[in-house]
Amino acid sequence: MQSAYIIVRYCLALRFVHLLRGCGQVLRVRDDDRDSPVARHDSVFRDTLAALLTRADLYERRAAATAQGFHGRVFRQAALPPKLGGVALACADAVCESAFLACTLACLVYLRAHGRLLRAPVDLSERCALPMFDALRLAHARLRTDSVASVQDLSHLLSGSTPPPQRVLSEGVWDKRQALVRAEQPDRRERTRVCSAAGQHAGAWLGAVPVSDRLRALPRLYQLALCMRLGVEISDLAELPRPALCVCGAAHDAFGWHPSVCRKGNRENAWTVRHDTVQWALIWVLRRLRGNVSAVGKRDMFGSAAMATVGRALHADIVAYHWRAPGRHLWVDVAVTTPDTAEALRAGSAEVSGTAARLRERKKHSKYGATVDRVGGCFRAGVMERFGAVGDAMQAMVRGACGDLDRDRGEEDWAFSAPSQVTYYMQHIVLAGVMADAAMVDAAIEADVYRRDLGAVRAG
Ligand SMILES: [Zn+2]
Repeated sequence: MQSAYIIVRYCLALRFVHLLRGCGQVLRVRDDDRDSPVARHDSVFRDTLAALLTRADLYERRAAATAQGFHGRVFRQAALPPKLGGVALACADAVCESAFLACTLACLVYLRAHGRLLRAPVDLSERCALPMFDALRLAHARLRTDSVASVQDLSHLLSGSTPPPQRVLSEGVWDKRQALVRAEQPDRRERTRVCSAAGQHAGAWLGAVPVSDRLRALPRLYQLALCMRLGVEISDLAELPRPALCVCGAAHDAFGWHPSVCRKGNRENAWTVRHDTVQWALIWVLRRLRGNVSAVGKRDMFGSAAMATVGRALHADIVAYHWRAPGRHLWVDVAVTTPDTAEALRAGSAEVSGTAARLRERKKHSKYGATVDRVGGCFRAGVMERFGAVGDAMQAMVRGACGDLDRDRGEEDWAFSAPSQVTYYMQHIVLAGVMADAAMVDAAIEADVYRRDLGAVRAG
């Protein structure tokens, strides 16, 4: 499942973008009684995504899946870049003009430099009579209409010596589309989901290439995570004659929200298992970066400092010894939170990404801050939202430890989708958290829909 997604996103989709860069709006023209190549491309991609959103073990159903079975807003969100809440499953309709402009502008720089050899017209400004300039003017006009950001005049773009890359030209188009996707969500909880999915590093797991065990995801969990990110009904929950009931007595919603907010449903330590997955991913990352790091567990490491500040023993999750200086340790307490709690919604999690993570960070600081100060250490809250957005402290801690450098291409687990250290380490943490969340929802489905005993499933 993970490999299928990676191949579709990074190999298949890019072929058509190359074609767009060369041909541009010609590909928007209808082909007799058939749709245009752009429209056909996008419809095939929607069908492909529909297959990825269907349980991998239901072979026939998966093979027959088409976009018709899903709401259109799923695909409009899916088309967005991961940092805006999507899964970057190519939408030629959105990038047609920016791809063509970027490529043509880059070619013109070359044409100008070698004009005499290539027998180019002397006037390569906006007024040039070459038919290609008609296409350029058309593409520029459409980009202006489709983009919320201001697009420079064509004459400016043509006179610049460094042509803008496609990514820059298309930014305004994506921003506009993201605003539309947010506006079309049916309720506040779904807006929260889209907003959280666009949070800091929330899409990092989608770039994880399975080059090592730590970056490899189970098909079922990957599929569930894709559904939850895009607000697709989980078929196991949605297709029952009556909604499945949780042990708390409440009905499960069809989107996998309930297990994260239900305290009673926290069976077999479901929350703890999810929490510990993130904790161990973070410990692995910190060990790679700074040596001596361990889980605290039940050890009472604050002693009298905790008694003096909060009046009871405190246990942070992780200690990184001698982080700042000899004797000055870093303490981390990890949490996975959901953006749809009543408190997070009140604080604006449907409008501002990372709101739930910030709230939880604040709580962690008020719990541990004074005690850690007293022992001369430093404290960081390692918070992640269930769709993958990490809190500011987690991001600062990892970035601070690994720096802004690129990875060495000679590393065994180097992958093109994580050229920088920060992305590489974030992929480990975010993939672990998002998959652990999916595993938790899967376990709830097993227990409440299929009546399987969770303890027995875990024991193997
Ligand atoms: Zn419940």
